[in-house]
Amino acid sequence: MDKITIVVPCYNEEEVIELFYPEVQKHVENIPDCKFNYLFVNDGSRDGTLEKLRALAEKYENINYLSLSRNFGKEPAMMAGLDYADGDAVIIMDSDLQHPPSAIPEMVRLWREGYDDVCGKRTDRAGETFFKRTMANLFYAMMKRAGNRYELQRDVGDFRLLDRRCIEALRLMRENQRFTKGLFTWVGFRKKEFPFAVQPRAAGTTTWNYFALFNLAMKGMTSFTTAPLRMMIFLGLSVSCFAIIYMLIVLFDALLYGDPVAGYPTLMTVLLFLGGTQLLALGIIGEYLGQIFYESKHRPIYLIDEMNGERMVYSGFPAPKENFTAPRENFKTPTKK
Ligand code: UDP
Ligand code: MG
Repeated sequence: MDKITIVVPCYNEEEVIELFYPEVQKHVENIPDCKFNYLFVNDGSRDGTLEKLRALAEKYENINYLSLSRNFGKEPAMMAGLDYADGDAVIIMDSDLQHPPSAIPEMVRLWREGYDDVCGKRTDRAGETFFKRTMANLFYAMMKRAGNRYELQRDVGDFRLLDRRCIEALRLMRENQRFTKGLFTWVGFRKKEFPFAVQPRAAGTTTWNYFALFNLAMKGMTSFTTAPLRMMIFLGLSVSCFAIIYMLIVLFDALLYGDPVAGYPTLMTVLLFLGGTQLLALGIIGEYLGQIFYESKHRPIYLIDEMNGERMVYSGFPAPKENFTAPRENFKTPTKK
């Protein structure tokens, strides 16, 4: 009998959380020889998500939940889920039903064939704006040029099934600035992509915008490659070469032809150009410095406030598979909030 945990990060999802369970259950019930349990991670929601999760966990034996002490973001929430999931495999899904649960039987089949990381590849990118697609192209191109030994998977997100081997590998990486897409790729193992179309949100609103996407791209760059730093060296070198050539031209002009070289406009242009380049270089160095700053603190990735109806003192992530215990005879929703 295989055991699979479905990990679901939730942030302000009170409108969809109750639709989620029956919808997924419908597709997993009939998978032979496989027991499913759920681990919802409440990522500091400010609406009624936590109350709904408590009620669900009280009602259904196979629902578990963790509640983080505040909003940490989807990536830390997923990490908490992976830390506490006790299945032989984990399926990570969004709570808004954008990841079709109908794909789960196929994912499980591929996993049983021997794949460790069965990942959903989006087939619906065509509908996105030109700007968004261009930016995505640029990002992947830069990451590819970065000369890493592993290549980021295109259009592949967090909807995936991970074998215990992948989970334990991911759990070893306790970095704070988590670019999960890169981490999944970094660990390797046998990957298999399957196509799926992202569904419209069942209810509620997305928390992503262009600014957040830009930040994610920056995080991806700075946590997985130092190529931008090297690019700055090349930029510096080419500017210096150009400067030497230009100096020679000006010198010859002045000495041979007595040309009183025009001053202000050229000076101004060069000055501003150099100033801009220097600021750019500083900014890039700053980004890396920021990464070091965050990582050097060694803060925990998330803090847990409550788990399955019990308020808990979080003292580090748990040992592999010694996490929540499934049967909870005396489960009670805590009264103290
Ligand atoms: N999410 C989260 N913490 C956050 C933001 C989002 O746990 O700070 C969860 C959210 O509840 C959902 C998933 O991450 O289950 C994806 O979020 P969303 O649907 O807003 O993003 P999109 O589908 O638009 O990429
Ligand atoms: Mg969504």
